Amino acid sequence: MSAGPGFKPSELIFAPTGRCNLACAHCRVARGAAELSAEEAIAFMDDCLAGAEAGLPAVERVGFSGGEPFLRPDFLEAVIAAAVDRGLLFDRLMTNGDWWATEGELRRILGRVADVGFDGVLGLSYDAFHGQDRGRVEIFLKAWFEATGRRDGVEILSVRAEGEGGAEPGSLEDRAWVAELSRLAESLGGELEFAGGAAASDGAVGSVVGPAPASAAASGSYGGAEPQRIVDEARRRRKPADPDDGAGLSIPVLRFPRSYGADEAGSARAWSAQAWFEDDYCEGPGQLLYVHPDGGVAPCCGFANERPELILGHIRDGYAALMKAAARLPQPRACYELGLGARRAELEAAGVRFPGKTADICLFCDWLCSKGLN
Ligand code: SF4
Ligand code: SF4
Repeated sequence: MSAGPGFKPSELIFAPTGRCNLACAHCRVARGAAELSAEEAIAFMDDCLAGAEAGLPAVERVGFSGGEPFLRPDFLEAVIAAAVDRGLLFDRLMTNGDWWATEGELRRILGRVADVGFDGVLGLSYDAFHGQDRGRVEIFLKAWFEATGRRDGVEILSVRAEGEGGAEPGSLEDRAWVAELSRLAESLGGELEFAGGAAASDGAVGSVVGPAPASAAASGSYGGAEPQRIVDEARRRRKPADPDDGAGLSIPVLRFPRSYGADEAGSARAWSAQAWFEDDYCEGPGQLLYVHPDGGVAPCCGFANERPELILGHIRDGYAALMKAAARLPQPRACYELGLGARRAELEAAGVRFPGKTADICLFCDWLCSKGLN
């Protein structure tokens, strides 16, 4: 029985390389020697566009991930130019912002990417796990603002730091990192704003660096003060009728709990949720074609997307063949048609016992793949 929407990708994400200048503790990207060529990526883009004309789901956006995609500036330049030529829109270009050796190199590469027409969002992964130097992040962001002429084209994506005792938001380490974020905001000429509109100047950071209220750890926020965006006065003063000139500083901060893979030390913590995940048929990280550096294509950017059970085929197989694979392979079908919540109920009825309950749907997906329960 199909309860879900089925697999209908609307976006292409290219991961041109698995290489990265950082080595984050929570990274799950395979560091193989494979590198995606711009020619193959563009040919696949064309095949997807032709497929849409023949009745397959329309791919409308292009994004970039990795590894560190800025280690392949030629790839970015060529594929962005091709996407602009074809009238495609952009989603996020992910980066750790820390891949450059000199400011000259940084400005040159960012300038090329902006000049060739990238007008999507720069997704900056910045948190205690990445451990970037704040001063270098400031230089990176200012160079991006200069290259694009806007101060509102970046999002910070951030995994909450962990205390010694576990992944509790509000742990000392997390509060220290939020204080770091507040300092970054100041160095950019803005301030860190918290959920509910409280700002650093209202004393919110004081509560961040002080003892965490018991309610803060319980609610997953800082006593109702979860960091939400970096913003300046110019942006705050903006009116809806003002021109969209990108003059005001606005950087949304999106924070997530740490995810654990099925085979990873620490996954027991992720299996101790009070309630099961909400089955959304992978609406957030799904409905896209994620092209790995070796040309393998997964149906999502969820962290299990390197599992063989989720690989639909190779870009050289073509869009139509990949769509047929998505309709045939058990794990993509379980995710997009049956729903992993229903799959869980099926397995439970068949006597399968899980390590606990998890709120992380991708961990559940990863665990199913690791156990061959597809
Ligand atoms: S920056 Fe991203 S790709 Fe690089 S090591 Fe960290 S998590 Fe992995
Ligand atoms: S549940 Fe599986 S298919 Fe869905 S987004 Fe997560 S890893 Fe991808």
